[in-house]
Amino acid sequence: MSEHIPAPARQHDPHPAQPRTVLLRGGEVHSPADPFATAMVVEGDRIAWVGEEGAADSFADGVDEVVQLDGALVTPAFTDAHVHTTATGLALTGLDLSAAGTLADALARIRAYADARPSDRVLLGHGWDTSAWPEGRAPSRTELDAATGGRPLYLTRVDVHSAVVTTALLDLVPGIRDRSGFHPDAPLTGDAHHAVRRAAYATLTPAQRAEAQAAALARAASLGIGSLHECAGPEISGEDDFTALLALARQGNGPRVVGYWAETVASAKDAERIRELGAIGAAGDLFVDGSLGSHTAHLHAPYADSPSHTGTAHLDTDAVAAHVAACTEAGLQAGFHAIGDAAISSVVD
Ligand SMILES: [Zn+2]
Repeated sequence: MSEHIPAPARQHDPHPAQPRTVLLRGGEVHSPADPFATAMVVEGDRIAWVGEEGAADSFADGVDEVVQLDGALVTPAFTDAHVHTTATGLALTGLDLSAAGTLADALARIRAYADARPSDRVLLGHGWDTSAWPEGRAPSRTELDAATGGRPLYLTRVDVHSAVVTTALLDLVPGIRDRSGFHPDAPLTGDAHHAVRRAAYATLTPAQRAEAQAAALARAASLGIGSLHECAGPEISGEDDFTALLALARQGNGPRVVGYWAETVASAKDAERIRELGAIGAAGDLFVDGSLGSHTAHLHAPYADSPSHTGTAHLDTDAVAAHVAACTEAGLQAGFHAIGDAAISSVVD
């Protein structure tokens, strides 16, 4: 491979326009061009060559810098194909309950967080998971009301498909008790969950949102993610959140953001409006069903641990087909969120 590519810049022949050259060697360079590559040459911001150690010797004297990889792996930047950027950022900057080992521990963390943030209009948190808690249940609304001193609180389960909230947050959503997925003594799911999420995120200031989005993009970059797919939608994050993120990504040096908007398309006009938002598809989290952890993934057979449930179907086969046809005619990518086997059948059919 090396004989086809001119040797990189010589240090004896410096030229202002000549890009800096670096040889990385002694690692594992992941490239479809050469599955056994251990070395690569970078010229400026371009990869000029990948290959093996023997050939790397011929470059070593001519480059500006040689980096010994010591067996490290070099790969192209990753793509994260399913991201909720603002929620990810809020999880990074907000209350993280993923380390709470018990219900009592979780309540103590909620109380401390609320005390430390007296001026937040809404308290946001994420990551609780009762499966390993000795109490075996989620916090009750009464316990949350007490822990927050009666302030609005929105706390998503680790899979983000259900949430526990305080009475003060419910009070922000008229008619919430009549929505499907509202359970007086259990986490909210489905429509009720989507409604409280909208209310909670609606209270974020643009500055809070920008801070969260920037935190998420910085974290992605630190993990080697060069491109991420934002799975936005009217029931997930809202138009302002989506357009602000795309604008932020355009001006920054962070990962490229590809936007998907989760709304069904029935006409060319629908498709045009979604495209104007900056989305490349009416896809992503266009929910055919929910999630396994929240018992809302749509199954053919009942849940083993909840025999009266088969989950929730938001779109049937006809609705899926209509969306794909309308998107295809409009030249817009169609896509769906489908988790349970019955939901996947609806999409495949
Ligand atoms: Zn999602």
